[in-house]
Amino acid sequence: MRYKRVLVKLSGGALSGQSVWGFDPSAIENIASEVMKLHAAGVEVGIVAGGGNIFKGELGQDWGIERAEADNIGMIATVINSMMLRGALTSRGAGDVRVMTAIPINTVAEPYIRLRAVRHLEHGRIVLLAAGTGNPYVTTDYPSVLRALELRAEVLLSAKNGTDGIYTSDPRENADARRFQVISYDSVIQHDLKVMDQTAVLLARDNKLPIHVFDFNSPGAMERICRGEDLGTLITRGADQFA
Ligand code: UDP
Repeated sequence: MRYKRVLVKLSGGALSGQSVWGFDPSAIENIASEVMKLHAAGVEVGIVAGGGNIFKGELGQDWGIERAEADNIGMIATVINSMMLRGALTSRGAGDVRVMTAIPINTVAEPYIRLRAVRHLEHGRIVLLAAGTGNPYVTTDYPSVLRALELRAEVLLSAKNGTDGIYTSDPRENADARRFQVISYDSVIQHDLKVMDQTAVLLARDNKLPIHVFDFNSPGAMERICRGEDLGTLITRGADQFA
């Protein structure tokens, strides 16, 4: 295995399938199955789920809700998604699956304690890291990188729905768009590529965390990446390479 411990970033949209809002049972089934393939291959798995299928803080301005309050609602949305995924994973036989939250909700989830999370992973438990950082003004991109670093994951697997990597421009609008096989952190930042928040890319760059951006709808993609296949686009240091 190329990677033995990974942090998976799923956006909330992965749980809503074709819909913008809410939950799609078949999409959740697919997530559980993909995560369990990875886990069965012996990889230690942490997951940060977004909350965009329920609420995103940036919507607050349309609703007349102050940003920090809106972000708190978004963070709670990630707790709901994490619990949904725990339910789905557990009922399909994934064993002991833990939800750890940065916002204390003690009767339904464990508080996030770094060393305890590491211990869960060492024991082979899938760990869902909920409520982001516990602080507003960022999305779940930032805590995905943060938790990956804290938990000593070797890589961040950034799951995308509907695209299989990072392109020079939108391939749906531009037939000449080219996919990067490898792209540097600095290129992502300089070209302002909308793959993840820049603050998250900077944190990854400064701490040399590799990020694989891949198509979650490609069956077995996470397991194949961990086994050494170069699917999607790898964000790392060094020269850019096209696919
Ligand atoms: N959020 C936050 N702090 C964090 C992580 C998330 O305030 O550390 C809020 C923010 O409002 C964000 C929302 O939670 O919009 C849901 O997360 P995100 O937008 O990343 O969801 P995704 O787009 O991945 O579904």
